[in-house]
Amino acid sequence: MLIQRVVEIIATTARTHQVVVVISAMNAPDLRTTNSLIHAAQQAADGNSDGLTTLIHDLLRMHVQAARELTSPDQGPALEQELATIFTYVDDLLQSIEILGELTPRALDRISGQGERCNARLVAAALRGMNITAEAIDATELIVTDEQYGDADPLMDLTRDRSQQRLLPMIEAGHIPIVTGFIAATEKGVMTTLGRGGSDYSCAILGAALDADEVWFWKEIDGVMTADPRIVPEAHTIPHISYTEMAELSYYGANVLHPRTVYPVVQRAIPIRILNTFNPGHPGTIITADAPSGSVRAVTAIRNASLITVAGPGMLGLTGAAARIFAAVARVKANTLLITQGSSEQNVCLAVPQADATVAVNELRHEFSRDIAHHHVEHVSVLEPVVIIAVVGSGMRGTPGIAGRVFGALGQAGINVIAIAQGSTEYNISLVVADDDAHKAVQVIHQAFALTNTESETVGRCLPQGRNKP
Ligand code: ASP
Ligand code: MG
Repeated sequence: MLIQRVVEIIATTARTHQVVVVISAMNAPDLRTTNSLIHAAQQAADGNSDGLTTLIHDLLRMHVQAARELTSPDQGPALEQELATIFTYVDDLLQSIEILGELTPRALDRISGQGERCNARLVAAALRGMNITAEAIDATELIVTDEQYGDADPLMDLTRDRSQQRLLPMIEAGHIPIVTGFIAATEKGVMTTLGRGGSDYSCAILGAALDADEVWFWKEIDGVMTADPRIVPEAHTIPHISYTEMAELSYYGANVLHPRTVYPVVQRAIPIRILNTFNPGHPGTIITADAPSGSVRAVTAIRNASLITVAGPGMLGLTGAAARIFAAVARVKANTLLITQGSSEQNVCLAVPQADATVAVNELRHEFSRDIAHHHVEHVSVLEPVVIIAVVGSGMRGTPGIAGRVFGALGQAGINVIAIAQGSTEYNISLVVADDDAHKAVQVIHQAFALTNTESETVGRCLPQGRNKP
């Protein structure tokens, strides 16, 4: 059971480190707690309460079952009682929502965050059963946020004061705080959540608030990889990358932390580690402000993109065309992944997720309808599905020949490049290829830079003895 591994990792780490643990909600392959709670709340608001009792009962049963497997008989009954209380509360909330027939973001936060409350209690009880002093703490006591329910952001000064006051004495006494991820509270004490996947954000917020020596994220991969190992079997872990490289990679579909999520720790230059819950002995990846530069670090691919082209002879010197294009795309909330315009100004190309393409194209055709009628703009066309390949590394900056090697490798493999973009930071060369060519493209670029055997740096498993490590 995953949670058993988590408990073991905490117990092992606590032998050599002072730790604060941030815990997310429990997921079984067929029952995801947060998703289920959100679904239940929506159903209740729609008046579809059939099946909700069963769903809540299933969630309770999953937690109680884990409690029985994980905890010693002396911890069991009190824990089961606590779990039952939480789900009774969820039930009451659902009934109120059903009566009101509406679901406010504020009410949804109250419900969606209960999974973390359960799991923190479970893990703390399991540790106590191993004679480790651990206490579950609701982050509503620690993290103070604005009132943007569903996607709140922390008020860092207040959060710092509260977290230090509450957690530092515990850590000094050798106790382990097991803090709920995802949830927080406004200054008035109303529960908020930090957005989907928000437990990573909680972890970063607390790490920054406590001036942790390091912040570790336990994921399901051996750190950041040079490429997706399902595409490139020789792909391997990059031992050390910089915050900037991490940010570039996370935009490109690599399974990496989102820059917004880790902003609080990056701002304080606290090292981050990405470790694997399923392979805890693996050193993973350390992420710091500076990292030894290796020209190209990783090659990633975003699938299911659409390439939209706005083209026509009249676009040369048509001022404001780019502004109108991006304003139109923004109006329909399509996310622009890549942009290109050659200096002939005859066309502007942008890539968006395929799911956003139809609305974006319609909005663009509407925006340029007059120009199309007058043949200034000939067409707004779309090519899909395409794949964006990103070649990332801060050492690419100022190193001539990288683009040559990328495109040389693609040319030799007979792969057609449809569009190209490189920002002036030179950390990232992005190119668009047809869906069928994507795997091959990633493979040949990976090979061209011998990403498999040039990595000489290694990071040992020997970690500094530090203070607080969420
Ligand atoms: N449980 C929350 C979610 O599913 C937070 C998290 O897992 O990070 O979004
Ligand atoms: Mg926000």
